[in-house]
Amino acid sequence: MGDDRLNRLRSIQRQILTCKRCPLNKTRSYAVPGEGPLDSRLFFIGQAPGKKEDLSGRPFVGRAGKFLNGLFSKYKISREEVFITSTVKCFPPKNRPPSREEIKACKSFTINQLRAINPEIIVFLGRVAQQSFQDEPFFRGKTVIRAVHPASAMRFQKMRERIEKDFLKIKRAIER
Ligand code: URA
Repeated sequence: MGDDRLNRLRSIQRQILTCKRCPLNKTRSYAVPGEGPLDSRLFFIGQAPGKKEDLSGRPFVGRAGKFLNGLFSKYKISREEVFITSTVKCFPPKNRPPSREEIKACKSFTINQLRAINPEIIVFLGRVAQQSFQDEPFFRGKTVIRAVHPASAMRFQKMRERIEKDFLKIKRAIER
């Protein structure tokens, strides 16, 4: 059973790495499928990879990722135990927000990652993730936390206060 889910997760990761569903495949260095263990209780969904992620193929390794790591350590959440991905798996040039078409093309990858992992708690990091998945039947009955995107929390004091509250919520949800 676990093997089957692991094979499915690996297969999705491979499909993402070679995906040509939208034009971002022409400008990316590496697609960024996301990372984390199969038995993750927590599943984070950001917006889209930035330049550092594009060059490394890993999620949240740039400035926003460092900020996120700070929150993980403050709230004693182990990054190695959570799954982290983004709504769109390839870098949109110049860091522009992903288009509707790009989001649509990528959506089933994230839903299939969620199905394989079946986490207890899903955290949307920012509005793009929230809006992209809000009507998805998969989320019915799941614990969903709508958090501020770390890039926004880095820039605005108000958002920084909000993301702290969001992380308290996450912490409480894990401890339930
Ligand atoms: N922002 C995201 O939403 N995802 C990343 O991987 C990096 C920054």
